[in-house]
Amino acid sequence: MVKPGATLVVSIPLSLRRVADERYWWPSSDGCYSTKSGYWMGRLGHCGGWASWFGVDNDVLWKAVWGLDGPPKLHHFLWRACTGALATKGRLTERHIIQDKSCLLCGNDDESIIHSLIDCREIACVWRNSPLAGYIENAPRSSFREMFKWLLQRLNNDELRQCSVIMWAGWSFRNSMVHEEPWNCLQQGVQGYIKWVDEYNEYAKLVFHRRLPRSSMGATS
Ligand SMILES: [Zn+2]
Repeated sequence: MVKPGATLVVSIPLSLRRVADERYWWPSSDGCYSTKSGYWMGRLGHCGGWASWFGVDNDVLWKAVWGLDGPPKLHHFLWRACTGALATKGRLTERHIIQDKSCLLCGNDDESIIHSLIDCREIACVWRNSPLAGYIENAPRSSFREMFKWLLQRLNNDELRQCSVIMWAGWSFRNSMVHEEPWNCLQQGVQGYIKWVDEYNEYAKLVFHRRLPRSSMGATS
C-alpha cells in the first residue's frame, strides 16, 4: 500500500468493544453500495470531494437544486453548475484540455461559469432587463456554488426558478454561439425557456397532482 493510504488506514481509531469487522459503504446511509452512489462518487472523483459536496453544509443547497419546480434537465444543469461541471473554457483549461480560456462571445480573459452565465457582455443585457438585476449585481462571485447559495437565501420559489431558468437559457445561448448555430434573438430565446418551464410545471401539476417540495430552505414562497 502506498504511504498516504497506509497513513490514513493506521489513523482510523479502533473500537474499544472489539466488534467484528464488516464491510460498510459509507456514502450510503444504510452502508450498502448502490449504483447511484457509485456513479456520484465517480463523478466527483474522490472521497474528499464527496464529503465536500454532500456534507451537512450543502444539504440545503442540494435540496433546493433537486426540489426546484421544473424539468429534470433544469435540475441537472444547476447541479453541473454548482459542482463546476459545466464545460466552460475556464474549466477546460483547469483540466488541461485546452490552453485558451478566453470567452468566445466577448473575448473576456477567463470564461468561468459565473462569467458564462452572468457576467458575459452578451448575456448581461438579459439580467439588466430582469427584476432580479439587483440581486445578481450584489451576489458574491467567489464561485457559482456560493452565488447560488446566496441567492437561495434571498429569493422566493418563483424568483429562484426564474433566475435558474435564465441561467439555463444563457448557457444554451452560449452553446448555440460556440457551435455556430446562434439563436436569432437572445431575449426571445430566454422568454421561450421561461414559458417552456411554466408549461412543464402546469403539466406536472396535472399529471403528478403535486408541486415538488422545497422544504428546509432559506427562502420563503
Ligand atoms: Zn463573455
